[in-house]
Amino acid sequence: MSQKAYDIVIVGAGAAGCVVASYLAVHTDASIALIEAGDTDRDPFIHIPAGFAKILAHDRHVWKYETVPQHGTKRAYRSGKVLGGGSSINAMCYVRGQVRDYAAWQDAVGDTGKWSYEDLLPVFMAQEDNDTFHDEYHGIDGGLAVQLPKGINELNQYCLKAFQEYGLPYNPDYNGKSQVGVSPVQSTVGNQRRCSAVDAYLRSHLASGRITLLTGKTVARILVENKRAVGVELMDNGLETIMAGEVALSAGTVIARRSLCTRASGRPSSCASTVSR
Ligand SMILES: Cc1cc2nc3c(=O)[nH]c(=O)nc-3n(C[C@H](O)[C@H](O)[C@H](O)COP(=O)(O)OP(=O)(O)OC[C@H]3O[C@@H](n4cnc5c(N)ncnc54)[C@H](O)[C@@H]3O)c2cc1C
Repeated sequence: MSQKAYDIVIVGAGAAGCVVASYLAVHTDASIALIEAGDTDRDPFIHIPAGFAKILAHDRHVWKYETVPQHGTKRAYRSGKVLGGGSSINAMCYVRGQVRDYAAWQDAVGDTGKWSYEDLLPVFMAQEDNDTFHDEYHGIDGGLAVQLPKGINELNQYCLKAFQEYGLPYNPDYNGKSQVGVSPVQSTVGNQRRCSAVDAYLRSHLASGRITLLTGKTVARILVENKRAVGVELMDNGLETIMAGEVALSAGTVIARRSLCTRASGRPSSCASTVSR
């Protein structure tokens, strides 16, 4: 059993994992390991926006789940299994939540957090490198490229008109004042390339060596001692343990059936979190 140690171990290098890793790299001196079950994002089809369909078709960078029966039928459910997670395989549509969604979050956390739309808007703006809008809703100095399509084909033009004929207003910016209406889709693309969370947040820290990235490593267990996470156990090619001052869990929202948290002694704990598939 090999053992390494880092101040912070982040499980899952998807959309959230890249942001968390980048934040910690900038704002702390901690040693950081970012662990990803999938491969690196070197596949060119990840970066070509039109490669989206091909990526989903060949399943190499995808966790293939099935839902429980929905009205009697199990449905296919996919999520990203690659550096960047979903942000490396998704449809690149840039759509913020509704104001009332964040109000519900704020209600849920009360005074313990700042999750209202007003709190989050400056964060959205700071993230963005928007190629079209620069106003009280959009920024141009962030790392996340956002663009409008560079041409609208005839079929899309008919669709835009048909929806207006149906009664929806034309809304040039659904991420702005109002989300109601019909318009072309804003996308996380820049210079004809997908802008994943890796591009927006992580790439420079990998290049500088500030963050240690471990790909092709699946975390099987979070080791818990005295109610504190103290490390993780990997399940690829034999048993490997990585000890940690802190463990951040960003392995996606789909939860497998069994709990994998254990005490460092190896005995199962009562922790309910799991990152196994
Ligand atoms: C096909 C598809 C199309 C989508 N289209 C859009 C869109 O157009 N616009 C939009 O905003 N959103 C879209 N989404 C959703 C968006 O991509 C996700 O909401 C987002 O990626 C979720 O981020 P996350 O960090 O929570 O999880 P993920 O991005 O899924 O990251 C989780 C990471 O953890 C890794 N991991 C999991 N288990 C382990 C383990 N045990 N050990 C190590 N690593 C592990 C995974 O491999 C993955 O890389 C789409 C998603 C899919 C699948």
